[in-house]
Amino acid sequence: MKILITDPIHEEAIKILKELGDVVVATDLSREELLKEIEDTDILVVRSGTKVDRELIERGKRLKIIGRAGVGVDNIDVEAATERGIIVVNAPDASSISVAELTIGLMLAAARNIVQANNSVKRGEWNRKKFKGIELYGKTLGVVGLGRIGQQVVKRAKAFGMNIIAYDPYVSKEFAESLGVKLVDDLNKLCELSDVITLHVPLTPKTKNMIGEEQIKRMKEGAIIVNCARGGLIDEKALYEALKNKKIRAAALDVFEEEPPKNNPLLELENLICTPHLGASTEEAQRAAGTIVAEQIKKIVNGELAENIVNMPNLPAEVLGKIKPYMVLAELLGNIVMQVLDGSVKRVEVIYYGNLSKENTDLINRALLKGLLSPILLAGVNLVNAPILAKNRGIEFIESKSTDTRYGNAIKVVAEANGKSFSLVGSISNNKPIILEIEGYEVNFIPESVVLIIRHIDKPGMIGKVGTILGEYGINIAEMQVGRKEPGGDSVMLIKLDHNVPEEVLKKIKEIENIKDAVVVKL
Ligand code: NAD
Repeated sequence: MKILITDPIHEEAIKILKELGDVVVATDLSREELLKEIEDTDILVVRSGTKVDRELIERGKRLKIIGRAGVGVDNIDVEAATERGIIVVNAPDASSISVAELTIGLMLAAARNIVQANNSVKRGEWNRKKFKGIELYGKTLGVVGLGRIGQQVVKRAKAFGMNIIAYDPYVSKEFAESLGVKLVDDLNKLCELSDVITLHVPLTPKTKNMIGEEQIKRMKEGAIIVNCARGGLIDEKALYEALKNKKIRAAALDVFEEEPPKNNPLLELENLICTPHLGASTEEAQRAAGTIVAEQIKKIVNGELAENIVNMPNLPAEVLGKIKPYMVLAELLGNIVMQVLDGSVKRVEVIYYGNLSKENTDLINRALLKGLLSPILLAGVNLVNAPILAKNRGIEFIESKSTDTRYGNAIKVVAEANGKSFSLVGSISNNKPIILEIEGYEVNFIPESVVLIIRHIDKPGMIGKVGTILGEYGINIAEMQVGRKEPGGDSVMLIKLDHNVPEEVLKKIKEIENIKDAVVVKL
């Protein structure tokens, strides 16, 4: 068996892999050389440096496993791998402690001017007044995102005697309390209350520029901001202004919108300290990323269940054959539900109808939970850990089966978050997921691309008003359906679009008389 390693990984990991086959470490291959090497490779192991695209995957005729020594799988075409039955496996929790420790380090450095003072002493100065700092003790730390890293930061900040609040709309109050953290329901509120703000959320369309002019305006005079998550979460222009006029005392960044930063004016500011995306750059995190993925590969080779499988092609075809389309459907339903409810989901109920109710639905349940958690968590959610992650977040999961055949073979999902509930019924038609019912209204809709879901009162001209606004912004409607129970009553509109709907367009649509609610779901 040939195991090809194309990015530097820890020697302990290489040792484990050597037990499994012939290891070839080739970390400076050209694209042509890589395409040649992959032809007789059975297992490929990469970090973020190798682009594992469809062409490479298709060339790997013998390829069975792709291991990513780290969290994100953005450099791997997982879909292409899944299509070819190749398992993709990663190491999602390898770097949480390292990133949390860097966060604490930057927080202290920003509070005590450590970097500036160091540079000054080395320049031959001895200026003790200029670098007077502040203590972290007794200050309020605002943690944005209570996931793996956020939780590790909380544990450490508690030891400093900080008062900790957090903003994460996808975790429950009880979960936050169990960590000794007070959950706030609004990012602006967190900004108003915090002395130090630290970000630990993935970069998504929702979190992009989540700290902007408005949030900075609400911050305390002299607040400190730390970002060890992703560039793009903070509006760098707004941050520049706030650091320049000292509204913000200091910012510490491990990540930038463009990396490495080019002509970035932030770098000229004395009160901005930074590191070159070093969060996971520790001996321990690198070792863990390598050894975790190597151990996972070993399990798969030995026919055992590996915890960090990102996709699902390793399940026997005879098991997957019947239920696979329903797994795809369930994942999609979960994904839509989370995007619509957009909050801390308390309860998810799934009901299986028709012959589907006679199948073993465990994998479908897992796919549903995976879909539910994917919009809010990093690449670490998979079929194996989805139920545990959901349980840890306090999500109650209820499954029931009905022999009722009114929908044929179908899945109904009813979920609750923040006092709101949402329901969907989906099925498979021509091998494709289809929505049969939304909030109790009958439809027949293939969910794909961008879908605008509007709840409204059935009145003449509603469709026209929405269509006009979309048209004004050049957003093309690909398909549209209305579900209603009776003329003039509550109805729902499903609009499939070719483009995303900007926030201002959504706002205008929501302002139309008789529209109760509108959400955009990206699939
Ligand atoms: P995670 O998936 O475990 O946690 C993310 C948390 O963010 C979840 O609790 C989720 O509910 C929350 N969240 C999602 N959307 C949100 C929103 N709109 N508002 C508030 N909260 C929201 O992720 P993690 O492993 O803790 O990673 C956190 C960040 O750290 C990611 O951006 C990751 O890319 C980054 N990271 C950076 C480095 C580095 O080298 N600096 C290394 C590893 C990870």
